Amino acid sequence: MLDQGAIIGILGGGQLGRMLSVSASRLGFRTHIYEPIAGPPAADVAWRTTTASYDDHNALAAFATSVDVITYEFENVPTAALDLLETLRPIRPNRRALAISQDRIAEKDFLTGLGLACAPYASVTSTADLAAALARIGTPAILKTTRLGYDGKGQARIMAPADATVALAAMQGQPAVLEGFIAFSHEVSVIAARGPDGSVACYDPGENVHRDGILRTTTIPARLTASQRTDAVLLAARILNALDYVGVMGVELFVTPQALIVNEIAPRVHNSGHWTQAGCAVDQFEQHIRAVAGWPLGDGSRHADVVMENLIGNDVARIPAIARENGAAIHLYGKGAPRPGRKMGHVNRIVPRG
Ligand code: AMP
Repeated sequence: MLDQGAIIGILGGGQLGRMLSVSASRLGFRTHIYEPIAGPPAADVAWRTTTASYDDHNALAAFATSVDVITYEFENVPTAALDLLETLRPIRPNRRALAISQDRIAEKDFLTGLGLACAPYASVTSTADLAAALARIGTPAILKTTRLGYDGKGQARIMAPADATVALAAMQGQPAVLEGFIAFSHEVSVIAARGPDGSVACYDPGENVHRDGILRTTTIPARLTASQRTDAVLLAARILNALDYVGVMGVELFVTPQALIVNEIAPRVHNSGHWTQAGCAVDQFEQHIRAVAGWPLGDGSRHADVVMENLIGNDVARIPAIARENGAAIHLYGKGAPRPGRKMGHVNRIVPRG
């Protein structure tokens, strides 16, 4: 267990790093943020911030030697930076979890290798690949860049084979994966945690609604049968165990009448887990810090039903009205001007019982 006053290094200074820092400080730790862009949201609440790029090896080394353990709030940390950092301090969650989540094909190979259901998929780097993949998988389908996609970016829908050329051009020459379109009834996610001793704690699955590829709301509890709920939690635990994972992970699932289909995994605290701040004694941020620090995990049980709404772009103009609502907990990320699609904050609304 890390001692009081120990320093947790966090790669990335966005809102997730900010909320991790607040939780770390509540447990008596300090955080050191590493972020290339000056003045990030996490800097307001961190002990120290380093502003440097991921190829500045001197800055990376100085950062690593100033901390006791390193974690991260986003999965696209460059490999060369990790190579250097891991020689100096432990990185939690581990490299394998990062490598798998950085590459959609590696991720699907790993998940299907565990016997879990994914959308049918094929690697695409050329027009010929795409034609062969479409012949096998059919339409509708979605073409996605294998790396660096988030919030629906780097994706193109293929409703009919005639859309193939435009979709491939949208990949801008990057390697891609073609996925069969899943006719899901709804989307859910499981936020799961694993400690260094192998203990696992999962939160109840939440139901997610996206608009324009960006999460809008998470509602707890999700519409799931008792057996689907158990399956969702068990499959998340299998993923964590297979990776010898330490920390919190988000597992996104498509719900169909036949199966729960894994969309993707995120090796970090997750936007769809923000509801735990209002619904649980130990929220996902504290849970992640507990795991990374080698503390016992919190139990993850839920004491309230919650609807989490993201405040995106000009949604922040509604804050004066939301502040007057009963049972609404506002979280703002301290970002500058609102821009379309920019996550500015979120609100957790407790759903009255009965
Ligand atoms: P992703 O960035 O892969 O999480 O995709 C963003 C959103 O696009 C998902 O949350 C789904 O709403 C939708 N989506 C992605 N892949 C598929 C798929 N294979 N079938 C149906 N919808 C999808």
